[in-house]
Amino acid sequence: MIGVSRYRLQPTPAQERVLLEHCGHARFVWNLAVEQHAHRKPGRKGAPGFAEQCRQLTQARAEFAWLRAGSIVVQQQALKGFAQAMADFFGKTHRRPTWRKRGRGEGLRVVAVEAGDVRRLSRKVGEVRIPKVGWVRLRWSRAVPEGVKSYRVTRDRAGRWHVTFAAVPEPVPAPDTGEVVGVDRGIAVSAALSTGELLKAPGLRDTEKARLLRLPRRLARAQRGSSRRAKVKAAIARLKARETDRSKDWVEKTSTSLARRFEVIAVEDLKIAGTTRSARGTVEAPGRNVGQEAGLNRGVLAAGWGRLVERLEHKAPGRIRKIDPRLTSQTCNARGHRAAESRQSQSRFRCLACGHQDNADASAARNIRDTAAGHAVAARGGSPLGGPVNREPQHDRLLVG
Ligand SMILES: [Zn+2]
Repeated sequence: MIGVSRYRLQPTPAQERVLLEHCGHARFVWNLAVEQHAHRKPGRKGAPGFAEQCRQLTQARAEFAWLRAGSIVVQQQALKGFAQAMADFFGKTHRRPTWRKRGRGEGLRVVAVEAGDVRRLSRKVGEVRIPKVGWVRLRWSRAVPEGVKSYRVTRDRAGRWHVTFAAVPEPVPAPDTGEVVGVDRGIAVSAALSTGELLKAPGLRDTEKARLLRLPRRLARAQRGSSRRAKVKAAIARLKARETDRSKDWVEKTSTSLARRFEVIAVEDLKIAGTTRSARGTVEAPGRNVGQEAGLNRGVLAAGWGRLVERLEHKAPGRIRKIDPRLTSQTCNARGHRAAESRQSQSRFRCLACGHQDNADASAARNIRDTAAGHAVAARGGSPLGGPVNREPQHDRLLVG
């Protein structure tokens, strides 16, 4: 099983120059794609797809010698990354991809990695072969996963280089219980299970959060170009990296545990979720007003959720059910009553019809589980207001909107 397979890269100054060129090419190609999408008329389909953009890349390489001198793998992967970013944007898990600035989130991706492209030199040292750069040393801080298919090289704002290896993890054997679990993306928690467990991804500790809130002010006071300013910037970057690492680690542990404990895992279908999140109301609104602190890790949480579903699909192939999330947060799990007002706050569910109370996130997770298991919720009690559940909502007198 793989953990967070990120390693510190230690390029020589000469190698670093080539890496920075690669980053520049990747950024150039990415920004070109951003421009193309920005100029597309709203409502009109047909922004260039990945294949069309690859053709344009070929043209651009014919035109610009400096681009031609770079690696086509790196440049194509930047386009591929952009295509994925657009898909994430349409799936509402991420914001629209934007223009990349030099020195911020620089990176490149390499695919079609072969078995001999990563090797260990000694107990603590290894190296990876990067196109047009050659063998670059890395700190062998943990075992490199078997069967690396691709990797990403990144440079953080503190100027440190890392390589992250990607290999599809081995499937986890399913338990023989037939048990179905529903998993909801919570607001107050990272994930709520239909068992009632509320899982929270470890973010930054309170002292770290406080620091992260304080540092930008210190940055504003520091003189441009001063070494003090560089130090504060590096400290901010380190804190953010720590937060991301913890989130990734949590995703690996949680996905393995879910795949091991449950035979079928039901999650929201994110493609549908995107269109209904705002209808759920309670989901987005709290995000806006719970203040600065929550705003800090919202991006991390959103990315963490996407990664959790992706990892589950790797570790429990064929055992994931994606459920239309519409109304899962508004339906009474006891008797199937439906009303938008039943979700009283981000954490409380109280059915307006029967008074059934539950944690709102766990309640949604139970509805997801029951939908996946094919039970109409009403089968367990019937609805005094009439009308079976898990059907179209228009029959329900309580339905609002
Ligand atoms: Zn009820």
